[in-house]
Amino acid sequence: MDTNRITVAYGDGIGPEIMTATLEILEAAGAGLQYDVIEIGEKVYLSGNTSGISDENWHVLEKNKIFLKAPITTPQGGGYQSLNVAIRKTLGLYANVRPCVSYSPFVKTNFPEMDLVIVRENEEDLYAGIEHQQTDEVIQCLKLVSVSGTEKIIRYAFEYAVANNRKHVTCMSKDNIMKMTDGMFHKTFDRIAKEYPQVNTDHYIIDIGAAKLASDPERFDVIVTLNLYGDIISDIAADVAGSVGLGGSSNIGENFAMFEAIHGSAPDIAGKDIANPSGLLNGACMMLVQIGKAAIAEKIQNALLRTLEDGYHTGDIYREGFSKHKVGTKAFTAALIERLGQKPIGLKPVELNHHAKPIHVSLKAKEKVEKKLVGVDVFLDWDEAGKDPNVLGKLFENIPSDQLALDMISNRGVVVFPHGHPSTFCTNHWRCRFTSKNESEVPFSEILELQSHIDKANIKVIKTENLYLFNNKPAYSIAQGEK
Ligand code: NAD
Repeated sequence: MDTNRITVAYGDGIGPEIMTATLEILEAAGAGLQYDVIEIGEKVYLSGNTSGISDENWHVLEKNKIFLKAPITTPQGGGYQSLNVAIRKTLGLYANVRPCVSYSPFVKTNFPEMDLVIVRENEEDLYAGIEHQQTDEVIQCLKLVSVSGTEKIIRYAFEYAVANNRKHVTCMSKDNIMKMTDGMFHKTFDRIAKEYPQVNTDHYIIDIGAAKLASDPERFDVIVTLNLYGDIISDIAADVAGSVGLGGSSNIGENFAMFEAIHGSAPDIAGKDIANPSGLLNGACMMLVQIGKAAIAEKIQNALLRTLEDGYHTGDIYREGFSKHKVGTKAFTAALIERLGQKPIGLKPVELNHHAKPIHVSLKAKEKVEKKLVGVDVFLDWDEAGKDPNVLGKLFENIPSDQLALDMISNRGVVVFPHGHPSTFCTNHWRCRFTSKNESEVPFSEILELQSHIDKANIKVIKTENLYLFNNKPAYSIAQGEK
């Protein structure tokens, strides 16, 4: 990507103040950009457009390819789609990159050596937003993780580490529980790591990983993780580094990229000239690197460090008796502009590769796999007989099917038939697993016929999941407690 024309949105809350500050600094540093300004967010939502952006403005985003965005407010109440998620997914912005670095001793943090980057998968996982209520008791949200999406983000993390001279990549997942989705993520990480012998690697289960990030963030370098975990740990990391007001973020795709602050629109401090513009400014510096203007980004980041060192601090990082000047957004911006061309004295100056090229990842061709249908999980809404699973089990043991037989019934994932425990709490949402009687492939018509028998028995089928073997290995999880 090499362009001087970008799309800009001033956003909501503190958005206009920090965007004005950021653009003033970019101009003063000689970035030489032209802007198409678009309106997105709260006003657009409240005008009745539930997507938060008009069609014409979508075209502007598509035309310019590079988007510098201030935070927006999504109005309370249902019906409004998340514009951030829609932009990321529609434009294929698969990598969310969030550097978190401490500016110690000039900005208070317990971790002076903290300098890490979170690479968060940006399109998949629970953010598919596919949710259904299936019974009056149970609602589901689908977690979708693709092999190609996983490979793309993990390759990006390694390529990012190499391009930025980072030595260690940590994977975080919850593969002790989600053995298939998160398990595939972890396995893909281990496989791709072998292609980068110069990079050290390790893996943390996300819960202990998040705890270590809060208590000992200096141990981390690059972290790659799935969408939801990445969302949570990047806020932890930004706060631990000093302030959410400091962190910038990039959303990178093959053809488009969006740059922003990691924080929200901070309505509590909007319009008061007290917001810290550094987060959006750091996002804008990532943009300059992406469009081939790393020298300008370096100049701005060094002036930012010098401003912080000289004790010009906005309220979020101000410390009595330590900071020299408590300044608002405008005064901070002026102090930074005065320092363009200067380098920090106490902090390590930023040195960027002026010839860095945007990272592109290419995926390996998919191997052909053999897929065999061998059964079905039938999900039911069933409230009869005091919810006794044995009644349901006995009924299904006699259901006529040439090729399928009942294996087990589970409730909220735990086996309740044929070997349940009397203490297991049961909702009215049941999964009944039927598998091939002779372990051979089952025709789909047999599965339809089975459902028709269940329906005739007056039991409500909510949905089904087919059970497959991939390359002769079962590609479905066994139930908790299944023998
Ligand atoms: P927030 O990040 O806006 O604010 C959290 C706290 O941090 C507040 O006390 C705020 O004053 C402070 N803060 C944030 N940025 C600051 C800055 N630059 N300088 C000084 N202090 C700063 O989070 P929230 O209050 O949970 O969300 C407010 C709104 O922002 C919501 O409508 C939410 O949906 C939206 N939001 C938007 C984005 C985005 O557009 N990318 C991201 C997150 C939240």
